Amino acid sequence: MSDRDDRDRKDPENSLEHTEDPKGSEEKKEYEDVCFICRRPESKAGKMFHLPNHICVCDDCMHKTMDAVSQYDYQGMLNNPALYQMLNSQFDGRGKDAKEGGQEEGGSGEKKGFPNISFINLADLTNDGIPRKQKIRKKSGEQKEKPALDLKSIPAPHRIKERLDQYVIGQEYAKKVISVAVYNHYKRVATGTMDEIEIEKSNILMIGPTGCGKTYLVKTLARLLDVPLAIADATSLTEAGYIGDDIESVVSKLLAAADNDVERAEQGIIFIDEIDKIAKKKNTTSRDVSGESVQQGMLKLLEGAEVEVPVGANSKNAMVPLATVNTRNILFICGGAFPDLEEIIRQRLRKQTSIGFNAELKDKWDKEKNILSKVTVEDLRNFGMIPEFIGRLPVICTLEGLSRDMMVRILKEPRNAILKQYQKLLELDEVKLDFEEGALEAIAEKAMKKDTGARALRSIIEDFMLDIMYEIPKDDNIGRVTITRAYVEGTGGPVIDIRSNQYALGDMEKLNAIEEKGI
Ligand code: ADP
Repeated sequence: MSDRDDRDRKDPENSLEHTEDPKGSEEKKEYEDVCFICRRPESKAGKMFHLPNHICVCDDCMHKTMDAVSQYDYQGMLNNPALYQMLNSQFDGRGKDAKEGGQEEGGSGEKKGFPNISFINLADLTNDGIPRKQKIRKKSGEQKEKPALDLKSIPAPHRIKERLDQYVIGQEYAKKVISVAVYNHYKRVATGTMDEIEIEKSNILMIGPTGCGKTYLVKTLARLLDVPLAIADATSLTEAGYIGDDIESVVSKLLAAADNDVERAEQGIIFIDEIDKIAKKKNTTSRDVSGESVQQGMLKLLEGAEVEVPVGANSKNAMVPLATVNTRNILFICGGAFPDLEEIIRQRLRKQTSIGFNAELKDKWDKEKNILSKVTVEDLRNFGMIPEFIGRLPVICTLEGLSRDMMVRILKEPRNAILKQYQKLLELDEVKLDFEEGALEAIAEKAMKKDTGARALRSIIEDFMLDIMYEIPKDDNIGRVTITRAYVEGTGGPVIDIRSNQYALGDMEKLNAIEEKGI
């Protein structure tokens, strides 16, 4: 054996090594390797050669490359004695090996040997870290003992709702519907197909005004169930081939959220927001690439299909490996505000009740507040959703717009309520932060005017808390700050308690004045 073989054995990082690993390392490998040339994963292309810089090349590609290299004479390089001499002297040891190798193999002298030249600098081909990122986690196969979701451990609907209650205020109906749908969905996933009766997928359509907690509800749900969640925006989706995100990119996002673990991704949740924006465009003569076509493109995803998705990228191209994800067990939740839907529902109800003996007052429905809860499939169709699409979202749940009282509760009740967050922040400065009930109502009233739901709450609080957060750390004597209604409305100031005394202050200047006096 030559020295080179010896060297290779000692330094696996620099050697061309086939993946016939010993058993131990096989167990450690959770991710599949992907061929750097043809982009096929190990499960498709077979065993890989491992090159430096985490590059893997499959058997086929390696052979093709070697064939190509051996057939090509590199402008007479191989048979050029002068060049060969030069290389020999430059790579002294290696040249010698090659020479010996040549003699051993061909037996016809020096010229035939192939000098150990690296024609391509493989390190140049890699972008730092890319090959590592593009690994696909292996499917574990049958030997895995514990399924990710055990039928027994799926929490019952009332338990799911109980947990949701800790975070999401109000929306009782939506929480109930979602708890049941999710419970059924994961029961179906855990059991697989039950005899001949196949349980259908319970994808969900959520309808509710902006800022009422649709996204928040889904996020909380995914966190509680510990399943990967991908949130996509339907407005950016277009039919494949057009500018915008490919529809299948949502699955690719989920795969990323599942840490490229195909198996985990296949049991995740995909939330598609702004679904009303892909309604069929009315009176259009051009091709509706971001509306109806997207709905059509989503049909097979919603129902369950095998999709090839790029790993670690948004679009398929030659440089990214593909993974096959089955969407059969992925729970799709679509959400949207559906503006104008209320009017469509009202019109239908008016038509129904204005004829015959049961005729009611025409304006009865105008006053009805929770009109969205009366939505039917027909209304959604009139809105511009295609029947096949709605048919694949069998569970429809509606969320109410937030009332003033709900806003007040959102401020203080959820586990990570905004007020609690600020209180915690000031606690670190050993200052107690209190809010008068009137102050909370004032914040809620202000937020109601903005018409963006609970989203407005934070920006309003942020506004008036800025001064407090700026001034309080200046003075170590301040022990408590109470936010009053007047302060929120801009007509007064907060009540500041100095560790033992109490001072009611009109504005921040007075606070500064006290500070200067050194009380
Ligand atoms: P959208 O319905 O437009 O998706 P979001 O779910 O993004 O609205 O809500 C925005 C923020 O408002 C959330 O991050 C959450 O903090 C708060 N929020 C909205 N509705 C509720 C609710 N019912 N309970 C608790 N917080 C809520």
